[in-house]
Amino acid sequence: THFGFETVPETEKAKRVYKVFENVAQKYDIMNDAMSLGVHRLWKDMLLHVMHPQPGVQLLDVAGGTGDIAFRFLPGRSTFVPRKSLRQKRRAVTPRSQEERQKRRATRSMQTPSWQDIANNYSTDDEDLPQESKAVVCDINKEMLKVGKQKADSMGMSAGLSWVVGDAEELPFDDDQFDIYTVAFGIRNVTHIDQALQEALRVLKPGGRFMCLEFSKVTNPVLARLYDAYSFQIIPVLGEVIAGDWKSYQYLVESIRKFPDQEEFKRMIEDAGFYCVQYYNLTGGVVALHSGFKL
Ligand code: SAM
Repeated sequence: THFGFETVPETEKAKRVYKVFENVAQKYDIMNDAMSLGVHRLWKDMLLHVMHPQPGVQLLDVAGGTGDIAFRFLPGRSTFVPRKSLRQKRRAVTPRSQEERQKRRATRSMQTPSWQDIANNYSTDDEDLPQESKAVVCDINKEMLKVGKQKADSMGMSAGLSWVVGDAEELPFDDDQFDIYTVAFGIRNVTHIDQALQEALRVLKPGGRFMCLEFSKVTNPVLARLYDAYSFQIIPVLGEVIAGDWKSYQYLVESIRKFPDQEEFKRMIEDAGFYCVQYYNLTGGVVALHSGFKL
């Protein structure tokens, strides 16, 4: 944990962003649920589904805030590794002859393990992992990290997690350190996006993957009208009622509208030097998941 030093925001935008998240840190999780009607959980689950992390992966979650991505990434939640005993059992029943194969086909339904067998034989603990998975949550705002760390402690999920104060535009890490870099709903808050992308490329190992969840452009015109009405008329009201902070949530809506659309952001990621850049629209483009590789 590196709460020791302060990162001082320099530009006007950075100062404003800092204040917004300092103000909302304690209410951040509740607000996320309220404003997205819980759907932000599905978007984050989707990121992890596409990531499909292997054991031993080193993740850097930038603008990680209260740790939602890192908690989903840790082995207890997302990585299932068969116990050795099950792997050996599978090998032992491999049929050798035609006759055995037929016999086996006939009794296959009897041999199909029940979900209970599977649950008993699959482990979610670390004993089978070839190497420990680790996640570093990095955020410019120590108030957000503080809330995340408290959450980790109360859920007993602190192992494998570290919390680092740092600016996405100037990451406090050496080159070629991480297998995956994630940034969820964070990059639009950064003043120089191109600089943040350069930093992502720098800290990733060759072969590493950049993944970004961000609000994007709604493609369906009917949904777009509804979404506009919801964001401009309801979100600031929710912000005022729940967090007592109309302005912060008005800023949020404006920052979403200013962020480049799917194709433009894809080009920016390519310009930064990533390969195989692609994106998936979630909820009709309300959110886009962009992915690219460092080669
Ligand atoms: N990733 C978390 C999630 O999905 O719940 C938090 C997202 S929150 C909307 C945006 C976060 O970006 C805030 O915690 C804020 O402090 C952080 N942030 C803003 N500018 C940043 C910067 N330049 N470097 C690192 N983090 C930044």
